[in-house]
Amino acid sequence: MKYDFLIVGSGLFGATFAYKAHHAGKSCLVIDKRPQLGGNVYCEQTEGINVHKYGAHIFHTANKAVWDFVNALVPFNRYTNCPVANYHGELYNLPFNMNTFYQMWGVRTPEEAQAKIAEQRAVVSAKLDGSEPRNLEEQALLLVGRDIYEKLIKEYTEKQWGRPCTELPAFIIRRLPLRFVFDNNYFNDPYQGIPIGGYNLLIKRLLEGIDTRVNCDFFTNRDKLTALADTIIYTGPIDQFYDYRFGKLQYRTVRFETETLNTPNYQGNAVVNYTSHEVPYTRIIEHKHFESFGQSVYDNTKTVISREYSTEWQPGMEPYYPVNDERNAALYTQYKSIADTEKHVLFGGRLAEYKYYDMAPIIEQALLLAGQHL
Ligand code: FAD
Ligand code: UDP
Repeated sequence: MKYDFLIVGSGLFGATFAYKAHHAGKSCLVIDKRPQLGGNVYCEQTEGINVHKYGAHIFHTANKAVWDFVNALVPFNRYTNCPVANYHGELYNLPFNMNTFYQMWGVRTPEEAQAKIAEQRAVVSAKLDGSEPRNLEEQALLLVGRDIYEKLIKEYTEKQWGRPCTELPAFIIRRLPLRFVFDNNYFNDPYQGIPIGGYNLLIKRLLEGIDTRVNCDFFTNRDKLTALADTIIYTGPIDQFYDYRFGKLQYRTVRFETETLNTPNYQGNAVVNYTSHEVPYTRIIEHKHFESFGQSVYDNTKTVISREYSTEWQPGMEPYYPVNDERNAALYTQYKSIADTEKHVLFGGRLAEYKYYDMAPIIEQALLLAGQHL
């Protein structure tokens, strides 16, 4: 059988493209090397709780078209991410807002908080003298000053990325909001939530009526699979597609230590970040809080938690976070320049574009590609 599209990877990029192609009357085969569909948003049920197997996923966007697209497939709940940071047992609200400033310095008004941050910023401001921050440390000091940098950013970031903050790009920290209101919502986006019934349902709806194969690695049967379709949508690692001919791109990966506990409510929040070096993991996720709120948390007497350990990626591990430094950027450009000349292969998604994309922009990009090629 000849398909219009062979889609390598059943994550949100591949599944969204397949959905649009199928609805445009095109035939598709979606393959994935993992034993299940869904890429990194796949969840596993344990004790009736959706466990985010490849890392906690909170959907958020400012793009109404993307929000409407996913909600038409599965309605989303009202989950709002409000992580708490634990630094040597002291608790702070995130992102950096009036609650954090009160907990850090005892300041009660925005004016007092702004004055405190201005005082703490003075040294780095003078050093930069109007020029752009050159690395994450300078960016963080300029944004929130030394106390917050040292207690809530420096050690967490070094655990997460395995590199000193002075060697990391400034943009990583610009993702975090800074607010002079008492608002612990981690995101500025107007739309946020978790699909009711879990992400697997979203993937199921996207792939309804489409041929799929799991445990199917493109590279173990490359020629046969390529011959099955006119066009390939490739969402795996771009360097692997070209047999690493220019060298390997670097990633950070996460090891999840997941445990079921005989308590209904372990930490009272979905996300608690451990921001000191002394604790080896970066955060603990308590999965039930993404979908149970208030008293309903106690309907289930058990809970499932995952401790996240961030490490450097090695072949055989899951590639999670692209390391966007100069070496990798230059290497990616080399791969992209040959990818751009392909006539029957289109590249998309977090791994093929080597970009730290969230879910909503991934869907946006897949819809865009579908619009151009269907
Ligand atoms: P993926 O989901 O990685 O899918 C790619 C698929 O391709 C995989 O299933 C893989 O098995 C398959 N594949 C690869 N190579 C081959 C091959 N050779 N043959 C067959 N199949 C292959 N975004 C948010 O918006 N909010 C969050 O809270 C959030 N949290 C995150 C937490 C973590 C730990 C990580 C890593 C990411 C997080 N993201 C979050 C980002 C989100 O996961 C991505 O934006 C999105 O899942 C990317 O979709 P994708 O289809 O590009 O890639
Ligand atoms: N970060 C931090 N302290 C925290 C949480 C985040 O310093 O308690 C920094 C860290 O550098 C991280 C970046 O902010 O890489 C982005 O955090 P986010 O939570 O958005 O990352 P992700 O959810 O993608 O892991």
